[in-house]
Amino acid sequence: MKLEGLSIIGAARGERGGQSFGAVNPATGDELPVKFYRASAQEIERAAQLSAQAFAAFSQSSGAQRAALMKRIAELLEANATTIVERANLETALPAARLQGELARTCFQLRFYGEAAATGLAVGARIDHADPRRKPQPKPDVRSRMRPLGPVVVFGASNFPLAYSVAGGDTASALAAGCTVMVKAHPAHPGTSEIVGALIQHAAREHGAPDGVFSLLFDDGHEVGAALVKHPLVKAVGFTGSRRGGRALMDLAAARPEPIPVFAEMSSINPVFILPGALPRKSEELAAGLHASITLGVGQFCTNPGLVLAERGGAAEAFVQKLANLMTATPPGTMLTAAICSAYYNGIEKFSQTAGVRRVTDVKTEMQKNLAGAALFVTDGNTFLKNRHLMDEVFGPATLVVQCDTHEQMLAAARQLEGQLTATVHGTPADLAGCRDLLAILETKAGRLVFNGFPTGVEVCHAMTHGGPYPATADGRSTSVGTRAIERFLRPVSYQNSPDAALPDELKEPNPLGTWRLVDGKWAR
Ligand code: NAP
Repeated sequence: MKLEGLSIIGAARGERGGQSFGAVNPATGDELPVKFYRASAQEIERAAQLSAQAFAAFSQSSGAQRAALMKRIAELLEANATTIVERANLETALPAARLQGELARTCFQLRFYGEAAATGLAVGARIDHADPRRKPQPKPDVRSRMRPLGPVVVFGASNFPLAYSVAGGDTASALAAGCTVMVKAHPAHPGTSEIVGALIQHAAREHGAPDGVFSLLFDDGHEVGAALVKHPLVKAVGFTGSRRGGRALMDLAAARPEPIPVFAEMSSINPVFILPGALPRKSEELAAGLHASITLGVGQFCTNPGLVLAERGGAAEAFVQKLANLMTATPPGTMLTAAICSAYYNGIEKFSQTAGVRRVTDVKTEMQKNLAGAALFVTDGNTFLKNRHLMDEVFGPATLVVQCDTHEQMLAAARQLEGQLTATVHGTPADLAGCRDLLAILETKAGRLVFNGFPTGVEVCHAMTHGGPYPATADGRSTSVGTRAIERFLRPVSYQNSPDAALPDELKEPNPLGTWRLVDGKWAR
C-alpha cells in the first residue's frame, strides 16, 4: 500500500497542504519516507459533520451488521499483516514477533466485540411486564436497552500501535456500541495508522456503511485533538497515554457547554505485595517472574510492575540481590520515542536523588539511540510513606522495592496508593487466606487483583477489568479491555407502555432476535 500522508475523512482523503511532519525510526533517529499533513480546521469540521450524519444511520444498524463490518476489518488487517508489521516495526522499534501478536489481538478484539454486539450482550435488554392489578398504583410495562452515545473521538496510544490505536480496543468497542469513530493518529506511528485507517475505510465502503462511520486525522501537536474533544457533535472520548495528556482532555471535555465523558487510561504503577511465606519458598521464581514482567517491551506497558512491597528480612535481601543481578544483566532496549526515553531518564533521576532511596543497578543508557537500561531502586517503608513522588509512574523498565518493617506498615503503604489498574499479591495459601485486611484496601485501589502471578498480559474476555480509580483511569467504573469496554459508549433508554410494534426488535415481546434478556428479574431467551 502506498502511503499518502493524508487524513482520512469518511470515504475521502484530506488535502495536501499546510504543515507536515515525518515519522522517526526510534532505533536510528532517521526520518522515514512520506510526510504526514496536519488535518486542517475544515477537515476536522467535515469529519465531525460526516460522523454525526453517519451516526444517525449507523446507530440504527443491527448488532449483526456491525459484527460483519468488524469481521471484515479484521480480515483485511490479517491480509495486510506483513505491510502493517513492517511499517510498525520501523516506526516503533517493537520487534516483529511482538507486533504480529498485537495484530492477532487486535483482530480478535474486533471479532469478539462484534460478537457481543450481534448476540445482544452489549444491548443489555431488560423487560418488566406491567401489572395493572398492583395496588395502590398499577405497574407500567417498562423495557430498556442500551443506546450508543454518538460520535466518539479515539486517541491512538504510542505503546500499542495496533491493539490500542486506530483499529484497537477503543475503536472496536465504540463501533460495537453503534458509535461512529474519529481517530486522532498518534504522531509516533502515522504510517501504521494510515495503513490501518485505509483498510477500515475500505471495509466500510465494501459494507455500504454510511460515509463518515470512520475518520482518521493527523497532527503532531495538540490542536487537532483539542478541537475534536471540544467539537459540539462529539459525544465521548477514548484515550490511552500520559496522565498529563489524559487530564488535559478531561478538563477540556468538562469545560464544554455540554460536558462529555472522557475514558482516559493514564498512569498506574501496579504494586506487587509479597507476603512473608512467599519469599523463603520461591524467591528465585519471584525474581525471575518480576524481572520478565518489568522489562517486557522495555517496560512500556501500562501494567508494568513499578512497585514491589515486601517485609524486611533475610529472604527479602536475597530476593533483591537476585532481582538486581537479572536487571543488571538486561541489555538496554530501544524505547518508542525520544520523548518517552527522556521522560524515563527524568523519572530515574528523580528517584535516584531522593534521600533514603538506593539505586541498586548500574543503568546503561544511550540517549541518542533511545536506548534504556533497566533500573532497580530499594527503599524502606518510612521513606516511601514520606515521599509521594515515589508513587509516580516511571514509564519504562524500572521498579522500586519497598522493604516494610511490619505488616502494618505494608497496609499503610497500600492505603496511601493512588488508583491502579492492577494490584498483585504473592503468598502461600495460608498467607492469602489471612490477608483480608490487605485485599480490602486493594479492592478500593485497583481494577484487577492478581494472585501469585504478574500484572503484564491482559486477557481479552468478558470478565476482564482493565481500569481502576483515578489516575489509573478517568472513570473507575469502566474498563478499556473486555466486552464491558463497549458499555463506555452506551447509555440506557427505557420505553414505558410502548406498543409492541413501536418497540425495537431487542425488546419486542416474542424476542424475534432470540437474544438474552432480563425478563421480570430472570435471564431468558
Ligand atoms: P501522551 O502524551 O499521553 O499522548 C497521547 C496522545 O494524546 C497523543 O496523540 C498526544 O498528542 C495527545 N495529547 C497529549 N496531550 C494532549 C493535550 N493536552 N491535548 C490534546 N492532545 C493531547 O503519550 P505519549 O506521547 O505516547 O507518551 C508520553 C508519556 O505517556 C510516557 O512517557 C508515559 O509516561 C505515558 N504513557 C503511559 C501509558 C500507559 O498506559 N500508562 C501509555 C503510553 C504513554 P501528541 O503526541 O501530539 O502530544
